[in-house]
Amino acid sequence: VPISNIRNFCIIAHIDHGKSTLADKLLQMTGTVQKREMKEQFLDNMDLERERGITIKLQAARMRFVYENEPYCLNLIDTPGHVDFSYEVSRSLAACEGALLVVDSSQGVEAQTLANVYLALENNLEIIPVLNKIDLPGAEPSRVAQEIEEVVGLDCSNAIHCSAKEGIGITEILNAIVQRISPPHDTAERPLRALIFDSYYDAYRGVIVYFRVIDGTMKKGDRIIFMASEKDYFADEIGVLSPSQLQVDELYAGEVGYLSASIRSVADARVGDTITHYSRRTDQSLPGYKEATPMVFCGLFPVDADQFPELRDALEKLQLNDAALKAFLHMEIVQERLEREYNLTLITTAPSVVYQVNCVNGDTVECSNPSLLPEPGQRRSIEEPFVKIEMLTPKDYIGPLMELSQDRRGEFKEMKFITENRASITYELPLAEMVGDFFDQLKSRSKGYASMEYSFVGYKESDLIKLDILINGDCVEPLATIVHKDKVILLFFTLDHHFNHKKVLKRKYNLIFNTLVAVIKWNLMVELYSSDVRDFIVCAFTFMLINMLTSKFGSSLVDSCHIEFH
Ligand code: GDP
Ligand code: MG
Repeated sequence: VPISNIRNFCIIAHIDHGKSTLADKLLQMTGTVQKREMKEQFLDNMDLERERGITIKLQAARMRFVYENEPYCLNLIDTPGHVDFSYEVSRSLAACEGALLVVDSSQGVEAQTLANVYLALENNLEIIPVLNKIDLPGAEPSRVAQEIEEVVGLDCSNAIHCSAKEGIGITEILNAIVQRISPPHDTAERPLRALIFDSYYDAYRGVIVYFRVIDGTMKKGDRIIFMASEKDYFADEIGVLSPSQLQVDELYAGEVGYLSASIRSVADARVGDTITHYSRRTDQSLPGYKEATPMVFCGLFPVDADQFPELRDALEKLQLNDAALKAFLHMEIVQERLEREYNLTLITTAPSVVYQVNCVNGDTVECSNPSLLPEPGQRRSIEEPFVKIEMLTPKDYIGPLMELSQDRRGEFKEMKFITENRASITYELPLAEMVGDFFDQLKSRSKGYASMEYSFVGYKESDLIKLDILINGDCVEPLATIVHKDKVILLFFTLDHHFNHKKVLKRKYNLIFNTLVAVIKWNLMVELYSSDVRDFIVCAFTFMLINMLTSKFGSSLVDSCHIEFH
């Protein structure tokens, strides 16, 4: 089809608002995928994703659609819905001219949806509001339309009412994509610039790169270079996603495709990087590329020490397969996949952020591993990363969410009512307080109704100390954590079988109590001099301690466990 008949679009939606269901219906209606070959929800193709309802992998699909007797080519680029992927989302959006904004009309706009709409507006995308689930008895499309107008400032007079489930409004959506979204610019004559929006590792062909050609033309066999990594390859195979891979000889400006070039490492072809020709290079890479800067680390140990080589292998493969490995909120998914797919039994340590330690001698040391923290005498101050979080919540849960944020050393920034019933609350808090279970807590304290979005604000000094865990007098380095002074409540009790602190423990330190009971079961004597009471550390502690003790030392060898802090 001519470039004027190409439309590139993505779907912005909060988790569960119906993105996958709608995408499936679009594929069906355009005959791209036959109903019988359609597995349940084509775009979420990992079992684990489907079970957890989280879309991790970005995918793309090309559809043929006839509008007023003319053939059109509609490229759908999927975006991940989870709060951790805003960079990946922004790159997918940058590959499109338009977006469907899908909102569950029995719910309303959520924080991540809002953030993604702003990203889309920054990228000059045409946004088509779609009010989904109108078949539900509780659907209020006009209220939700008004909410979108008020909150986002988007004209909703021509919002499409739809039920992805019942197949209502699907043709209207396809028509609107053709009518309202502009075609790509015809820049096929310029030097090649293609934007990478996703990649994955294929065991036989190496890294498969998904991209949108912004300018120029890519031919099969061309020598190409990835501008950020400065790695060059021959594009042995190029093609389109229909949605399965279909080889072609050429891809022009405006088109979406994939390439395979025996690339061994995903690091060579990062999301957001620009592909150009090796000899006819563009002098300007596409804007928006960001180096991945991991800010959170987590230790991972096989319970059986003999499984170390297998773990290393599995991790390498998984990393090549899944950019989400770096996403800490998905740590438990990574662990589960490793356990399920590679038959490993693993222990993870509490996630740790990267601290900056200002030393007495004037040096600044980056510290991602608490056990590598310089000695107290050598350090002048410790800085930790802070994030700004914005929570959107029905007004009933404002109290519990403020309490949660305050508990996590949050500093209140502002609160706005976006509608009569829903508020936006902004806090600044240490990233260390957000990793782990903050998101789960937000969900449980708001009965699932609140949503959040966060961004990094910078490093700030905090009063931090290191908590060591000693077993048999030996420091177990992987168990060391860095905690805030105010969060450490000094406890002194020696456990024998009839301690009298039971009441206190039961009320406030339930988890520690359980830990100790479990430790007693293993016939251990425990002296606890101090402890951090934050749930996630205690949980990790419970989990790890028992595992470490039993697997590493054998229960009979351990005669004391002793915790202290400096
Ligand atoms: P996603 O997380 O945005 O991809 O959402 P899904 O497409 O997985 O849908 C979440 C849930 O909402 C599923 O149980 C769907 O069956 C359901 N759902 C999606 N669209 C509709 C709709 O139009 N009406 C109703 N009643 N349910 C829907
Ligand atoms: Mg989905």
